[in-house]
Amino acid sequence: MITRFAPSPTGPLHLGHAFSAFQVWDLAQRLDGQVLLRIEDTDSTRCRSHHKDAICDDLTWLGLTWPKSVRTQSQHYDDYAAILDQLTECGLLYPCDCTRRQIKDAGATTGWDGLVYPGTCRTKPMSQAAPTDALRLNLSKALDSIKTPMTFTEIGPIHPGKHVVDPEQVLKNIGDPILRRKETGDPAYHLASPHDDALQSVTHVVRGMDLWRATYLHVVLQTLMGWPTPTYFHHDLIRDESGQRLAKISNSEALSVYRNAGHNVADLRALIGLHD
Ligand code: GLU
Repeated sequence: MITRFAPSPTGPLHLGHAFSAFQVWDLAQRLDGQVLLRIEDTDSTRCRSHHKDAICDDLTWLGLTWPKSVRTQSQHYDDYAAILDQLTECGLLYPCDCTRRQIKDAGATTGWDGLVYPGTCRTKPMSQAAPTDALRLNLSKALDSIKTPMTFTEIGPIHPGKHVVDPEQVLKNIGDPILRRKETGDPAYHLASPHDDALQSVTHVVRGMDLWRATYLHVVLQTLMGWPTPTYFHHDLIRDESGQRLAKISNSEALSVYRNAGHNVADLRALIGLHD
């Protein structure tokens, strides 16, 4: 069993990350597996390398350990470019320079995670792609090329069981996803994360319920690319007293605040509802 903790270094780790990290390491312990640490820093506008060092310090303070070799995604852009090339060869990508406003004005419907791209640029050839264009996956064409039924197994507490990924629902609720980001040309999370799970032989993905619907897209990409589909464990998100999700922007819950105030790991586990 191999799982991973895959934070994005956009700020200090907070209580929500600690909760997630404990879920990952606890499952690995129960299943006698190993946890890899992966730094998902492909959003060059938001990720900063000093946060990476702070993440490692915080995890160590939490008593968590991982093998020395840490995959830092920004060091592997060639890997993601190769996948984009492969998808281009199959005619499954197209360039897009639409703004959010334009997408709204084109009558985009709302899907699982916000606006569903209405396909405005879908007929643009890749030969016209500018380096600053986003690259989108033609989802309908991709799904047409998939001949096998798509499923995944969830072992988390909220929706345990086998789930079918219905192409019609995916099309209606996801829309053509961006695999290379606009302006920066950074590979998108939806490309880099499933790619790395396959590359690193990850058998179990543990993460928050905020990514539940992303899993449907990841299973499509895994099937398209011939990557194995891991087993998933989506945990609930911890909320503050007002029911709001703990956001990374709020510094008040940064783990360093608890560490500097003299709390220990047992205090912290109790605080987030994890009792040994
Ligand atoms: N990098 C993602 C985050 O920090 C986690 C993605 C995942 O676990 O698949 O939210």
